[in-house]
Amino acid sequence: MSVAVRFAPSPTGLLHVGNVRLALVNWLFARKAGGNFLLRLDDTDEERSKPEYAEGIERDLTWLGLTWDRFARESDRYGRYDEVAAALKASGGLYPCYETPEELNLKRASLVSQGRPPIYDRAALRLTDADRARLESEGRTPHWRFKLEHSPVEWTDLVRGPVHFEGSALSDPVLIREDGRPLYTLTSVVDDADLAITHVIRGEDHVANTAVQIQIFEAIGGVVPVFAHLPLLTDATGQGLSKRLGSLSVASLREEEGIEPMALASLLAKLGTSDAIEPRLTLDELVAEFDIAKVSRATPKFDPEELLRLNARILHLLPFERVAGELAALGLDDADAAFWEAVRPNLSRVAEARDWWAVTHAPVAPAADDPAFLAEAAALLPEEPWDLSTWGTWTGAVKAKTGRKGKDLFLPLRRALTGRDHGPELKNLLPLIGRTRAEKRLAGETA
Ligand code: GLU
Repeated sequence: MSVAVRFAPSPTGLLHVGNVRLALVNWLFARKAGGNFLLRLDDTDEERSKPEYAEGIERDLTWLGLTWDRFARESDRYGRYDEVAAALKASGGLYPCYETPEELNLKRASLVSQGRPPIYDRAALRLTDADRARLESEGRTPHWRFKLEHSPVEWTDLVRGPVHFEGSALSDPVLIREDGRPLYTLTSVVDDADLAITHVIRGEDHVANTAVQIQIFEAIGGVVPVFAHLPLLTDATGQGLSKRLGSLSVASLREEEGIEPMALASLLAKLGTSDAIEPRLTLDELVAEFDIAKVSRATPKFDPEELLRLNARILHLLPFERVAGELAALGLDDADAAFWEAVRPNLSRVAEARDWWAVTHAPVAPAADDPAFLAEAAALLPEEPWDLSTWGTWTGAVKAKTGRKGKDLFLPLRRALTGRDHGPELKNLLPLIGRTRAEKRLAGETA
């Protein structure tokens, strides 16, 4: 049996770190097993599903490198859902209900006020043909509920271990709305069965759905997949992350926060697992380390500061070829490997390279507060060509001439050459600044 998993977002909003973590875990699971990964858009909620969100999902997954082997869109499959629904109606698996939302709310409120669980009372099952005819002649159209077996539902969850539900403790779920549209609880099972999904890996908010869906798989003659329910990410305070929290959308992490795809992947692959979070430069490394058994049941906390620190660690390791495109997009078309290697140890985000480009390639107002010393140093500047040894040769000579050492020697030179107190190693920057600029800056000129 070859492994098949799916990531099934609803295109009703931007992908959030919580959703994309599930995409990543599914993808890693598939790649590790040599199986295949399906991207399925759960777009049957026609009011809220938008093509731009569907495009956003594809863009985000592509950015992370999570390529899909198969693609499906639920709105293409209404005919199939109708067919399954018709069969379930014929077998009595689906039964018509006529309560209005207000009536259902009243029933729920009354049960809750008696301290009882708000389980649907199956009143509709007791309607006679005459009752139904009367309701329909009054203009009511039914919605359809799935008749759950009142027997135990059990599965061995890859994250939670053995899980047990009593069918009688669950409400018969509505699978078909009054307007005839099928709901997620049904469509997802039909797709998983038809597309031979072997493992359903999703958030623990779906645990109760799983109990219901296992019975639906059985009712439609589908093979019940293996389930894994991951604890949902929370923010640093333990609050759940909402999909609509735009600041944690993948798009904003990419476009506003300057996060590298491998920083996000390195964090999300390990968050809530027994593995330490370490920078990884390729998804292949994450595949090699992945094992769903490492996912713990404890609530993983997503900390944007941790992501930014990991981003910095990734940048410090990334070779020039991996950022050349991003540098060009920042307008630094002439940036080369020497520039990148000089500045990357000082970056948390690629966009910060612009500041150092301005130091090496644009006029800088120097902080030349020790003119006599700087003049002595300028007189000792070696002739070009300059390379990585120039700084050592030059400062050696300045030290010998002036007797200065340590901070007294280096800080005035740094301030004059870069206009700043801190920054990348001058050994790397000096050849990029070049002799003409260096000489002028040491003389206190903006150059
Ligand atoms: N569209 C559902 C969601 O986004 C999919 C859940 C599932 O994986 O079955 O919650």
